[in-house]
Amino acid sequence: MYHSEKMLREKGIKVTPQRAAILDVLRDTREHPGVEVIYQRVKKQFPSISLATVYKTVELFVRSNLIQELCLTGDVSRYDARVESHPHVACMNCGKVEDIDNFDMEYIIEPAEQATGYKILKEEIMYFGYCGDCKGVMDN
Ligand SMILES: [Zn+2]
Ligand SMILES: [Zn+2]
Repeated sequence: MYHSEKMLREKGIKVTPQRAAILDVLRDTREHPGVEVIYQRVKKQFPSISLATVYKTVELFVRSNLIQELCLTGDVSRYDARVESHPHVACMNCGKVEDIDNFDMEYIIEPAEQATGYKILKEEIMYFGYCGDCKGVMDN
């Protein structure tokens, strides 16, 4: 708890228990939750918090680079407290979003820079498919 408050302070964000709780939810999970899921979890601790407050807080965190927003085509945004670039895989059936570990990003940036002449600073890699649980079901 203390650590989330410290992170808020370092970004110059006014610390409130609700804001710290929202950041805790995001830092405690690797599920890449959407606002609705964050809201349901924070509500357990702060029953009077509104969905609008959670939305505004999450937007503030994205602007302050405390969390990153993942854009999924045709879906609501999902959020990740790991702000460094890393690739993700999303299930098109159940909506699960997971990190792909041990993935060599350098390999992708270099050819992209060579092909375009850009100095690339950030990449967002999202693979879409069916997860292990959904694969079998969708094959039928
Ligand atoms: Zn799935
Ligand atoms: Zn992630």
